[in-house]
Amino acid sequence: MNEVVKCPKCGKPGRLAVHRVRSKGRVYAYTVVKHVENGKVRRCILERILERAEGERSPAPADLGYSYEDALETIHALFARARERAAQGDLSELEEFVVWLERKLSPAVTRWYEEAKALLQAR
Ligand SMILES: [Zn+2]
Repeated sequence: MNEVVKCPKCGKPGRLAVHRVRSKGRVYAYTVVKHVENGKVRRCILERILERAEGERSPAPADLGYSYEDALETIHALFARARERAAQGDLSELEEFVVWLERKLSPAVTRWYEEAKALLQAR
């Protein structure tokens, strides 16, 4: 069974799951938190993760024009430029990088990692 999480929508405990819906020849999938209340299932929708025509396959990362390595290289290039400017005495870009890392990237990576692990454990 899926890991119990605190629902970010309603604050109650529930289990993280993927909810798939077919409607009018289209397929939708959502990450949801499933709550069981009085024997009934209630779902809080977190995010739509899929919408496409039935039978259509999801594009591979390469087809999206991205790869994990590209993502890493992009971040590294931004850091390298900030570091170079810092070496020339301008610290503003390095400061901006640290703030972005702390406020945006790090929390996002943690959230995606936890969600991915919970979904894998659900199999
Ligand atoms: Zn909820």
